[in-house]
Amino acid sequence: MTATEGAVLEIDLAAIAANWRSLAARHPTGPVAGVVKADAYGLGATRVAPALFAAGCRHFFVAHLNEALALRPLLPGAMIAVLNGPLPGTEPAYLTHDITPVLGARDAIARWSQPDLAPHPAILHIDTGMNRLGLDAHDIAALRADPTQLARLTLRYVMTHLVSSEIPDDPENLRQAAAFAAARTLFPGVPHSTANSSGLFLGPRFASDLARPGAALYGINPTPGLRNPMQPTIRLRAQVLQVRHIAQGESVGYNATWRAARPSRIATACVGYADGWPRSLSGRGHAIFDARAVPLVGRVSMDLTTYDVTDFPSIAPGAWLDLIGPGIPIDAVADAAETNGYEILTRLGARYARTWRA
Ligand SMILES: *Cc1c(COP(=O)(O)O)cnc(C)c1O
Repeated sequence: MTATEGAVLEIDLAAIAANWRSLAARHPTGPVAGVVKADAYGLGATRVAPALFAAGCRHFFVAHLNEALALRPLLPGAMIAVLNGPLPGTEPAYLTHDITPVLGARDAIARWSQPDLAPHPAILHIDTGMNRLGLDAHDIAALRADPTQLARLTLRYVMTHLVSSEIPDDPENLRQAAAFAAARTLFPGVPHSTANSSGLFLGPRFASDLARPGAALYGINPTPGLRNPMQPTIRLRAQVLQVRHIAQGESVGYNATWRAARPSRIATACVGYADGWPRSLSGRGHAIFDARAVPLVGRVSMDLTTYDVTDFPSIAPGAWLDLIGPGIPIDAVADAAETNGYEILTRLGARYARTWRA
């Protein structure tokens, strides 16, 4: 049992489950999966996935086979699919542990249509614009010309992935929907899967037989620029180690990037870029104390971050600063750090004391 000191990440599993239920209510055409790759976006897949399962979720997506194997015993009977697809030699693990491969290349289809693997359910990934993984238009044409391999596969779903779903009026969205609909004529009767988090907010053209949200489950706003329809799920706090008085003109931190314009009080908190607290917040981020913004000053360093608390006389060693939580959403931190909420969450470091509230 570690003491609650230093820097603490509190994860609200009930809020994650509530977010899943609200997304499920938005998708009447089919079930809503839980994307729990990257350790459930940094929040702890072995805690988050069972909480989603208890809420009724029966379809899960991870990126790596190892992530799937870790979750298999916790999710009896549920589909666990590996988005990155099966690497050669891993086939026995998929069969033994009932893991669903996502096939997204011709060589994978050739392998998984062999008699030893073909009865095992798989998902087929069709690329409609991302150009990372998935069958492209040439692959589809070739499979149309000779559908014998396809005919042997046992397909659970055909899926595609949207490239700009968080920008609702990007014409790319409708273009991808049309390209996916055209490719799907090759798979009559096979259920399909389209929307990620933001895709669930794009309207009925993007409804399918299985939605695949990740970010929105964890409270990242799937509708940037509009009010966040999701509940916040985490509170990240760090304690003040020292408060020091500095004279006007003195600097704080590496490379002296900030100088006091007045006699100042500087609080040093025990969080830094080794904890995934972005160095790009140097001189521009803030924390919250008593519902007020406390400006971050100087460089974020490896283990420490400094704040100007001149106007906060009650901040003393041991005080807790909110880094993410009430009054400071993930998306606001991401904006200040010039990244997205996904990166903020998935980089939250191993050093935080994590607690999960059911
Ligand atoms: C990560 C991922 C998702 C989930 O995306 P969010 O934007 O987090 O909802 C869905 N599908 C695929 C293929 C992914 O890689």
